[in-house]
Amino acid sequence: MDQQIKEMLNHYKVSKQTYDFLNAGHHGMFIDGKEITDSSTSHKFTIEDPSNGLVIATVPLASKEDTDLAIKAAKRSFYRGPWAEMNPGERQNLLLKMADVMEENLQTLTEIEAINAGKAISGCKDVDVQGSIDILRYMAGWATKIEGATRDTSWPVESFGFTLKQPVGVVGAIVPWNWPLNMGLWKLAAPLAVGCTVVLKPAEQTPLSLLYLMKLWQQAGLPDGVVNIVTGTGEVVGSRLTQHPDVRKVSFTGSTPVGKIVGKAAVDRLAHLTLELGGKSAMVAFEDARIDDIVQAAHQSVYFNSVQVCSAGSRLYIHQSIYQATVQALAESLKEVVIGDPLDPETTQGPQISKRQLESISTYIQKGLEEGAQLVFGGKVLDRPGYYVEPTLFAETTNQMTIVKEEIFGPVLCVQAFTTEEEAIELANDSIYGLAASVFTTDISRALRVVKRLEAGSISVNTHDAVDVCMPFGGCKQSGFGKDMGPEQLEYFLETKSVIVQL
Ligand code: NAD
Repeated sequence: MDQQIKEMLNHYKVSKQTYDFLNAGHHGMFIDGKEITDSSTSHKFTIEDPSNGLVIATVPLASKEDTDLAIKAAKRSFYRGPWAEMNPGERQNLLLKMADVMEENLQTLTEIEAINAGKAISGCKDVDVQGSIDILRYMAGWATKIEGATRDTSWPVESFGFTLKQPVGVVGAIVPWNWPLNMGLWKLAAPLAVGCTVVLKPAEQTPLSLLYLMKLWQQAGLPDGVVNIVTGTGEVVGSRLTQHPDVRKVSFTGSTPVGKIVGKAAVDRLAHLTLELGGKSAMVAFEDARIDDIVQAAHQSVYFNSVQVCSAGSRLYIHQSIYQATVQALAESLKEVVIGDPLDPETTQGPQISKRQLESISTYIQKGLEEGAQLVFGGKVLDRPGYYVEPTLFAETTNQMTIVKEEIFGPVLCVQAFTTEEEAIELANDSIYGLAASVFTTDISRALRVVKRLEAGSISVNTHDAVDVCMPFGGCKQSGFGKDMGPEQLEYFLETKSVIVQL
């Protein structure tokens, strides 16, 4: 381990488990219950700590053949062995045990995630890791509640019909780097609850928390082959998961351009498909909105997680009567953002995930200036190791500007004024995306009227990006289709079989 990383771990007094895990340096992927340290080609790739750009680990660079082995293991364990033979109650209890073991290791999972993904540790613990445990427990409860229907048929002879809900089979899951563990659990909990098996590909930048999780789940008694984590590139492992005939369901979270490639491959062989894609979500604040609510929402979505949040309310439309006051309040509040080391409990904004991402954000900020947006706060890349940029606020933006049209995936909020409700709705809906949206008003009739007309899959009132495990999350338009979380998600991993019985 690099001396500087060692000093950082000692300085922040990470758990012995975190230290030992990172000290190991190289981590295997998990196929059929075994930690596989070498890919079939023996190639590996490096994982960085984005707070300093140093290498913290290596993992195998899986090949198509490695991916096929994982799919084979998942298929076998779907049809035969302890998982296939488990009844719903046993499956529920196992998932609850897996959640318990995560809770027992909450600190270590948090530290690994904070270091690998550059997440401010306080939010990482409460949102990323606790949120992952919550979804697993929530879905565990559904294992015993999957039900079909009985119907009276109208046949001339006595008969009745019923439906059987059965797991689709092997699921190929592909996740991004912005919520490595959390997105992993969004992809794993529901299929496991209904009895599927999974091959999951973490993002290249952030496999560590999921690899550590597999060690924990094995301790909890997860049978071999039920969950397989294959580390590698999207082009090799990801595309194989979308193309392999034994992968019955493709569950993808990531960018819209890659989602289109994944979608085409899955549709080509008629696999089940869920696409959770990018966004450029709107927040609409009317004249009777509470300015504190708007500021708080901006911090919990746009400036949270260094704004690597798919549903961030990065376009803010404010009624002209409260425009100046809101922009001023936002600018004031940004002075409170504490940029720093992810492991420092005082930090509220960590680094961006990579040099490439930092450069892309910086190019967008430059573009905003060139296109005439008014820079109210921030805008600068920090002169320190790692990939840090100031929280940034642009006012006087228009929907024609690149920074308002495109997903920046960095801490940049674009603000503009409107005068009428109709205009606000038109501006908010004027986007290729439709992931999330929010309305700020103390008039409940207006709130509900506007909610109905906003083109987005997840809408919040007087807050933004309000999620809960019991509520389905997912977009419309080019933000994708299908839902994660809530009972709705279960349907995406079930086949409905129709049976008619003549007596
Ligand atoms: P990305 O699309 O570049 O990568 C996502 C995953 O797809 C990675 O694991 C990557 O390796 C894999 N991949 C790349 N090429 C592939 C291919 N040809 N076939 C199969 N898989 C391939 O996205 P990212 O940069 O990792 O994540 C950021 C994006 O994810 C943003 O656009 C964000 O909005 C989106 N996101 C959406 C949600 C949601 O719920 N809608 C949640 C989180 C992130």
